Amino acid sequence: MSDNPLLDKLLGPDGPELTCDECFEHLDRYVELEVAGADADAGVPGLRAHLAGCPACREEHDSLLALVAADQPKP
Ligand SMILES: [Zn+2]
Repeated sequence: MSDNPLLDKLLGPDGPELTCDECFEHLDRYVELEVAGADADAGVPGLRAHLAGCPACREEHDSLLALVAADQPKP
């Protein structure tokens, strides 16, 4: 915690983290990167942290991941 209450409020308890709106906004891209085997965490920083702390978004992520994965052509 700093001496600046406004800064603490801006940074939040665990540093930068996405809101649910931002999470939904980037979820498609994040899942596509995951399915492609790319570094999804680097592509959408903070999203995994949000999923870890937000069961609703994690559920959304899991169903989207299953959907996209099922849609992938098998090599
Ligand atoms: Zn959320």
